[in-house]
Amino acid sequence: MSPVHLFAVIAICATLLNGCSDKASGGADRTGVICDPPEFTVTTEAENVIPSPGEITELDGPVLQIHEGVYMVRGFSNTFLVTSDEGSIVIDTSISFTGGAHEQALRPYVVEPLRYIILTHNHPDHTGGVEAWRGDDTTVEVLAQKEAVQFAHYQRRLDGIFRNRNSAQFSRLLNLPPLDFNPPDAPVVNDGGTILSTIQFERYFEFQLGNLTVQVVHTPGETPDHVSVWIPELRMAFPGDNFYISFPNLYTLRGTRHRPALDYVSSLDTVLSWRPEVVAPSHGDPVYGEVAIQERVGGYRNAISYIHDETVRGINAGKDVFTLMREVTLPPELQTVDTNELYGRIDWSVRGIYGGYVGWFDGNVSNMTATPPTAIHPEIVEMAGGVDAVAGRAAELAEAGDYEHALHLADMALNVDPNHVVALATRADSAAVLRDESINLNAQGWYHAAVREVESKLEE
Ligand SMILES: [Zn+2]
Repeated sequence: MSPVHLFAVIAICATLLNGCSDKASGGADRTGVICDPPEFTVTTEAENVIPSPGEITELDGPVLQIHEGVYMVRGFSNTFLVTSDEGSIVIDTSISFTGGAHEQALRPYVVEPLRYIILTHNHPDHTGGVEAWRGDDTTVEVLAQKEAVQFAHYQRRLDGIFRNRNSAQFSRLLNLPPLDFNPPDAPVVNDGGTILSTIQFERYFEFQLGNLTVQVVHTPGETPDHVSVWIPELRMAFPGDNFYISFPNLYTLRGTRHRPALDYVSSLDTVLSWRPEVVAPSHGDPVYGEVAIQERVGGYRNAISYIHDETVRGINAGKDVFTLMREVTLPPELQTVDTNELYGRIDWSVRGIYGGYVGWFDGNVSNMTATPPTAIHPEIVEMAGGVDAVAGRAAELAEAGDYEHALHLADMALNVDPNHVVALATRADSAAVLRDESINLNAQGWYHAAVREVESKLEE
């Protein structure tokens, strides 16, 4: 649909006002209300547009004003406060250990009543301040897309592996200590997630906030429950984590299900179709200007689409996943300030797309059974002259700067002798260099955790 066409489509669905506005939703006991209109049209043109300031203004302490009546505190994840002449909303609440500080900084700017906390998605770096904002005040509704419920259960179900992997991935960025898996006999908890939302919707939720219209749209991408917020009077969109400081993690090493690339593409198309003049992502700073937004967010969308299509082309051509991880890269015109690999990485995303589409089997019968390639490591080590020889060769490779091969060879030695000092030292040294050479925050975390693990073993 062209922008000109969209310009003409200015309507709020009448059914919405009966079925899914806050006016119709009842009192404070609406936990779990699923509120969804059969159809909806996002308002792309408002009557009383408030001009964008085009820049951030610093206020007291960490508080930034990013639009008329819209405030932000930067953090590992940002918290936004949107005020109108008749009340306020909060969009995302940051992570638990900063959520309270964000709330305290922003609280003086709240225009009472605080009506909604909108969670762009149910990741802990966005939900950590809900308690600080809401406290015992049950008149403050917490709004989320309905998939947030299953997503919360999923995260709780797998809390043992996620706890361990989060501690590795964020060992450096958040200085997390190593955290254990669950005990082997720990019960399986399938539906034990904490449900933060008091109102859930499926595709669309809209309400009036004084002089502002707030339109919340299901835009899956980073997570299945992901939403974006659009306020036409401000010409301002909040895309959550579907657009952030780097190429996305279409797969994240801390463990996640497939994040479908085509969901990102269509969700970013949705946001772009509103022709925002301000886009405020939950990580990083706002982007100002309709042209800049179309170019930058559009370029981001195109980069994801390109990586997806090239990976699918390779999958269909019978290429293996490691070949695709090496071969699929962005062409120069899609390498922008927004598609850097500071947080997400393209090779991991390629593997994520591959695994998301075709699963674990690589088509090789050797890999079809429970006998892994590592099962023959003792055989190879013996043929190579023993574990000292293999560890020594690993150290030579590291010395020569071939750290990735050195890690594999050290692993082979350690599979035979888990306490081999040269193999352990080579593993630690290689991981330390790769950590220090990497610009990727998550890779740094994993290498750092590997170094830490080996060092604690060597100290025993
Ligand atoms: Zn986030």
